[in-house]
Amino acid sequence: MPPRQRILRHATVTRTERISPQLIRLTLDSPDLVGAELPFTDHYVKLLFPPPDAPYAHPVDPEQVSAEFPEHPPMTRTYSLRHRDTIRGTIALDFVTHGDTGLASPWALQAKPGDRINYFGPGGAWRPDPSYKHFILAGDEAASPAICAALEELPEHADATAFFEVADRSAVFEVPQVERVTIVWLFRDGAPYGHKLAQAVRATTIPTGRTSWFVHGVAEMIKDLRRYLFVERTIAK
Ligand SMILES: Cc1cc2nc3c(=O)[nH]c(=O)nc-3n(C[C@H](O)[C@H](O)[C@H](O)COP(=O)(O)OP(=O)(O)OC[C@H]3O[C@@H](n4cnc5c(N)ncnc54)[C@H](O)[C@@H]3O)c2cc1C
Repeated sequence: MPPRQRILRHATVTRTERISPQLIRLTLDSPDLVGAELPFTDHYVKLLFPPPDAPYAHPVDPEQVSAEFPEHPPMTRTYSLRHRDTIRGTIALDFVTHGDTGLASPWALQAKPGDRINYFGPGGAWRPDPSYKHFILAGDEAASPAICAALEELPEHADATAFFEVADRSAVFEVPQVERVTIVWLFRDGAPYGHKLAQAVRATTIPTGRTSWFVHGVAEMIKDLRRYLFVERTIAK
């Protein structure tokens, strides 16, 4: 099978907003998305960055870079679509800001209206399936955009519990207020990423009706919860 072709798209920052001490929301115009089919709540984009010390800047055109600077290939970072509007061609991305290391966090911290960035995508594969009665969603700050997007598109007859693990009490941010949804905040307060989340999911009562799970975060927590759900609780995959 030939490799799937990646589509290069273009975006321009129109708004920056701090939504918590750790999270910055960037709204971007991406006219390429007008009329696009984006049916999922876990859609994500692969933002293209010049590597450190690259002799080129944003917006990155990978073909041009490969022709002119093959020794400095662009780097990608993955971000979920918190909002998508395919009528206007706009998206919103929530960035965890973790200081001046890396590429995406420093870029988001300094972004201002008019800044341009290219990306591949959006990819995506999951949305709340209306054949389920219950949803359990769990993740840390980086998973929160996809979880919030899912809460906004919950089937009318379904209920959900959403676990959000954040640094501490001051890190709570606004999440969709949806009837039938229970929000549980978990504060790391210095504990390793994923520990409190895994404990809370293990302690939750599993509903008796058909239940769908969306759990995202650090690899150890995912491994632990996969074992819990699929081996210990023998939930069907
Ligand atoms: C499908 C998918 C969707 C994602 N969606 C989002 C999203 O919507 N929002 C989001 O913020 N992230 C999201 N992520 C995670 C994000 O892609 C990574 O955190 C990314 O590596 C950050 O890039 P960076 O250049 O800022 O830092 P990197 O260059 O990757 O890392 C630099 C340093 O920062 C640390 N670091 C990186 N990320 C974090 C973090 N979240 N918290 C604390 N320290 C960190 C690293 O351990 C490293 O020490 C998603 C990942 C996937 C796979």
